[in-house]
Amino acid sequence: MDYIDLHTHSTASDGTFRPSELVQKAKAEGVSVLAITDHDTVDGVEEAQTWGRLLGIEVIGGVELSVNYNNQEMHILGYHVDRKNPLLLEGLHKLRHYRDIRNPLMIERLQKMGISITLEEVEEMARGQIVGRPHFAQVLMRKGIVSSTAEAFERFLGAGQAAYVKKEKLTPQEGIELLKQAGAIPVLAHPIYLEKQEKESFSAILGELVSYGLRGIEAYYPEHSAEDVKKFVSLAQEHHLLITGGSDFHGSNKPKTRLGRIMYNGKPIPSSVTKKMKECLLNV
Ligand code: AMP
Ligand code: ZN
Ligand code: FE
Ligand code: FE
Repeated sequence: MDYIDLHTHSTASDGTFRPSELVQKAKAEGVSVLAITDHDTVDGVEEAQTWGRLLGIEVIGGVELSVNYNNQEMHILGYHVDRKNPLLLEGLHKLRHYRDIRNPLMIERLQKMGISITLEEVEEMARGQIVGRPHFAQVLMRKGIVSSTAEAFERFLGAGQAAYVKKEKLTPQEGIELLKQAGAIPVLAHPIYLEKQEKESFSAILGELVSYGLRGIEAYYPEHSAEDVKKFVSLAQEHHLLITGGSDFHGSNKPKTRLGRIMYNGKPIPSSVTKKMKECLLNV
């Protein structure tokens, strides 16, 4: 079986595998094309690509940006990104700054709830520059306050929960344009997480994103049912978009997700689909 996985996180953001380890794991899982798509950073790309060359795996350099769509969190993936593009690096710097504003406020909320936690502990857990909510979750787990990442999000960190503080984000247009000018192919990540799932309203959202330069949609994703996949594939066709898929692997920060196995209906995606995805991303 030939597997491809176009959505993965490393320790450069909130994954638990170093970029080199991610590529080694991909090799062990039989993956032939892997995209590294850390949140708000391209710091892991070079190491992952070096290891890709060593192990004979195609590694696509990518990034995942969070944008604000009418007060909802939306994620845009960018593939084949120029990791040295000055405007991109400036934009990513700004996104880290937004984290630097939010993170201490979340610590304050947790402390007010009587939890003994410091920003330093969370930063130490993150090791890199991107300090995200999954790192807060790990610290809460280590302290025995919660027993899983899911519980940490349900009780404290998820949108609307007691310790949640919204961070400032780019607009979808700004995010897509930032990726485009860095040579990247913008793709809508995990569409299932958006509120409007009814086909017509979803199509309107896609139309708007396409007008900014969106080029693809992540139709294959572990949380998508067979029905969802069908809907997103048909929407992709309607809007002439590339169809992609990925696991959103985060290592032990998302323990149920396996690298390289984007399952739906309990089965891996058909190799014909894998082949098409490979063509669309390798031949652009
Ligand atoms: P941040 O960018 O710091 O706001 O953190 C967002 C990240 O947290 C997402 O990209 C996911 O990796 C993770 N996340 C968000 N919601 C949940 C959840 N309910 N359970 C587990 N992880 C989550
Ligand atoms: Zn993440
Ligand atoms: Fe995401
Ligand atoms: Fe992701």
